[in-house]
Amino acid sequence: MEIVFATHNTNKLEEVRKLLPKEIQLLSLANIGCSEDIPETGSTLEANAKIKADYVTQTYGYNCFSDDTGLLVDVLDGAPGVYSARYAGNQKNTEDNMDLVLAQLKSGSNRNAHFKTVIHLNLQGQSYVFDGIVNGTITETKMGSGGFGYDPIFKPEGFQQTFGELPLETKNTISHRAKAVQKLVEFLKNQTT
Ligand code: IMP
Repeated sequence: MEIVFATHNTNKLEEVRKLLPKEIQLLSLANIGCSEDIPETGSTLEANAKIKADYVTQTYGYNCFSDDTGLLVDVLDGAPGVYSARYAGNQKNTEDNMDLVLAQLKSGSNRNAHFKTVIHLNLQGQSYVFDGIVNGTITETKMGSGGFGYDPIFKPEGFQQTFGELPLETKNTISHRAKAVQKLVEFLKNQTT
């Protein structure tokens, strides 16, 4: 069975490919000749994941899944959320994004937050949604240089270090994305047995 992962990120693609049973051939957007940037015009993670998967299924006729992720901060009413990549502006600058979140959180205020990944799968005419969440807190300052995005300011529950300080292998076993991908993989394994 062929399935497209609607991403231009080859690291994400390889990460998922390794986890899938051999009956499933994972195709990239490049493999199907899709070079366009699919517009993410939804106002929720769920909507954006659906838009991307539907675009590929409707335009190219493939089974397809896509993911969308955001950091949701409690006292910011779930911001940056769906706007995580461009929270401080369309230049999509990671440092600016983190600085803005830190500036918006007053010292001593509730710093609870979570990352959430939503995966939307279109498979043989049906749609399925999987999600993964990791709870944690926003630190007062940036710590660590590993990972990407908001990792240096996010300390997952049960850990004393941020995602920017923890080894990647640790992040990849407890992260929002890992949890959502695991649900997708279990589902797809059951489809092939
Ligand atoms: P995407 O949907 O995976 O492209 O993620 C959207 C944005 O959320 C990214 O540009 C990052 O700013 C942020 N983000 C997603 N995943 C992570 C993560 O694992 N750590 C830190 N930031 C993330």
